[in-house]
Amino acid sequence: MLRAPHFRWLDNLLGLFYPNLCLACGRNLPPRQEGICISCRYKLPKTGFHLEPDNAFTERFWGRIPLQAGAAFLYFTRGGRAQRLIHHLKYEGKRKAGIYLGKLYGEALREAPAFREATLIAPVPLHPRKQHQRGYNQSALFARGLSESMGIPFLPNALKRREYTTTQTKKSRLERFENVEKAFFVPYPEKLKGQHVLLVDDVITTGATLEACALKILEVEGAKVSMATIAIAQ
Ligand SMILES: [Zn+2]
Repeated sequence: MLRAPHFRWLDNLLGLFYPNLCLACGRNLPPRQEGICISCRYKLPKTGFHLEPDNAFTERFWGRIPLQAGAAFLYFTRGGRAQRLIHHLKYEGKRKAGIYLGKLYGEALREAPAFREATLIAPVPLHPRKQHQRGYNQSALFARGLSESMGIPFLPNALKRREYTTTQTKKSRLERFENVEKAFFVPYPEKLKGQHVLLVDDVITTGATLEACALKILEVEGAKVSMATIAIAQ
């Protein structure tokens, strides 16, 4: 609903108490604008990977798992806009940021045939303890936004994560790898049968977590996997 122009003073007054800030640069947003400012929208460090079948994202999985398609929305750089957005999303309870980014990226992915062919969208699950602390899974919010703008069903519990008591830091690299591999399972394989699953996470670093999840999905008969993340770290 549009508010009459003479009530703009009220928006400005409310803005003093509830500042409406851009999630990428922290500057004030004009009234009624949500998410990120127009300037940041143009300056987002977009990768354009979704338009290239072979890119720096899919490269990380070569010889490891067969991917239908893979792409990250943004380049993650220290102190950059993508880091700021993800920080808001993960640590400041800005749930809307996740859905907003998902919708934005979904508009781009809709134009890429390989991604458009996906039949289900599934997030990488958080560790149950972390999810309890945070109250939400940031990757699931991003997945929800993608699902809305791509018109592809969202299946939040396609994968589940096991609870572990031992800490990762005390383990060797190999043990950590094995730990990641065993951390996930598919609770309802019949739901993934013959599906092309778009697996979604917040940031890709080594790709070990995404790989472990994809391996579980690929164990299901006829299942295929593509991947999308908010950002890619160098
Ligand atoms: Zn901004």
